[in-house]
Amino acid sequence: MFKAAIAIVGVLAFSIWTTASDSRATVRFFDVGQGDAALVDDGHGTQILIDGGPDRAVLRGLGKAMPRFDRRIELVILSHPHLDHYGGLVDVIARYDVGTVLVNQAGDGPYERLVVEADSHSRLVTAAGQRVGIHGGTVEILEPTARQRRRYENANDASVVVRVTLHGRSFLFPGDAEEAEERRLLGRPGLDTEVLKVPHHGSRTSSTDEFIKETSPTWCIVSSGTGNTYGHPNPDTVRRLGASGCRVVRTDRHGTVTATISSSGISFSTER
Ligand SMILES: [Zn+2]
Repeated sequence: MFKAAIAIVGVLAFSIWTTASDSRATVRFFDVGQGDAALVDDGHGTQILIDGGPDRAVLRGLGKAMPRFDRRIELVILSHPHLDHYGGLVDVIARYDVGTVLVNQAGDGPYERLVVEADSHSRLVTAAGQRVGIHGGTVEILEPTARQRRRYENANDASVVVRVTLHGRSFLFPGDAEEAEERRLLGRPGLDTEVLKVPHHGSRTSSTDEFIKETSPTWCIVSSGTGNTYGHPNPDTVRRLGASGCRVVRTDRHGTVTATISSSGISFSTER
């Protein structure tokens, strides 16, 4: 039995007991077609799902990734209420024992169903500064502040931005942030990252030169679907990311991308 303590500083604190066996920490960028879904597993029984992709495709990824006999996902974070990020979460909540759900704002339409489902759990509104302790690291919310949440016009630019550190390695998840939110983030401590989940599926309106320069990623993971109608990722954006020195890995070409983390480094494996 391992005791994994989770505390969201300033909001709530709770702890859980888990029977999961000790294994290595991983971050998986699931191939969910056109959308985002990533699972952080600290290797000590705590899993955190950041977005759920457009549909049930996320269940395939979770089925392979979750440790045997572990049906509990301690925390689900929804970056913003667009279908390609929340669509699969309704199924996740129905099939897994989900602890806490973090959302950034109220929405309408089908998104409300998720909110209703999530209300039977512990649903919280995200706020910059929230921090969750996991084995070997932290999960920290950088954006949005309450003021920014009220003022957004483009839901993409109110995306929850999550920074994950595990064994001294860093991952940045900027949701579908576009230029305006990227600009807000510039100068923020902790923006520098080893692995960047490329914002907004590698769109033309994201990954500005300034943002790439400040995040200075070694690895750039693009989550997008083959032949999607948006043209994601934009070829110029991919070129810009590559020219900055980061290695671009794409779920549309390589399938689910798994980063395995240890104190000596990060190793990547892909489905294809
Ligand atoms: Zn999206």
